[in-house]
Amino acid sequence: MDYELIRSRRRSLAIEITADGSVLVRAPKRMCPEEIEGFLKQKESWIQKHLEETDRRKKEEGPDIRLTEKELDELKKAAREFFPDRVKYFADKMGITYGRITVKCQHTVWGSCSAKGNLNFNCLLMLMGDEIRDYIIVHELSHRRHMDHSAAFWKSVESVLPDFRERRALLKKEGRPLLNAIVSTEEGTGKYYTYILRCSDNTYYTGYTNDLEKRVNAHNCGKGAKYTRVRRPVALVYSEVYDTKQKAQRREALIKQMTKREKEKLILGSK
Ligand SMILES: [Zn+2]
Repeated sequence: MDYELIRSRRRSLAIEITADGSVLVRAPKRMCPEEIEGFLKQKESWIQKHLEETDRRKKEEGPDIRLTEKELDELKKAAREFFPDRVKYFADKMGITYGRITVKCQHTVWGSCSAKGNLNFNCLLMLMGDEIRDYIIVHELSHRRHMDHSAAFWKSVESVLPDFRERRALLKKEGRPLLNAIVSTEEGTGKYYTYILRCSDNTYYTGYTNDLEKRVNAHNCGKGAKYTRVRRPVALVYSEVYDTKQKAQRREALIKQMTKREKEKLILGSK
């Protein structure tokens, strides 16, 4: 059996099946290998059962999609051609004005609307159906009237798309594997993230990393930072991608200077 062994100042052995389906064994510093192997043998059927469960869950979550840089560029190009006309169609219908339209590849948001009315769309939307693209367009345009997700906001969405709830549910279901695909594409390509976590006491923590998923997990395991260790669980609520560590660090410093309200505005603008 393949497993990772972590020795520390603990008294007993523990086995953990990680989210990606590998076996993690935590052991006291000086326990002999035979004893560890014996314990694993004893727990073999339990481990097997949990590995199968993890495997089944991974299958349910959808395929592990990885997109190449070239594929992403093509998606961006297609999105730049698609969105202007479609946005204009809905904006005219709703009697709403807007500013510039930009297209990005992001792994946290599908679209956003700035205070000035500039709209941003995720190029991954080009891998989904019209019903989802239209929903995001109407969602962002509705933010021109309501910069929140209040009842009035959803009424505005509903007035154009009466079935928006089904569309939103479909986006949730199909969207997650696609957003994950971006994360795995960006891994190892020298990308750095500046991110914001919401802590359990409703405060925000800002940091930077080159592996977002791993870093958020570390925070949730109490190994991220002193600040987050006593404020678990934390949730990733915002992130930006940079090509150098320096840029990500500079952005981190800027966000750390923001007031709580300014941070919230930043987070809300990306939803
Ligand atoms: Zn929104």
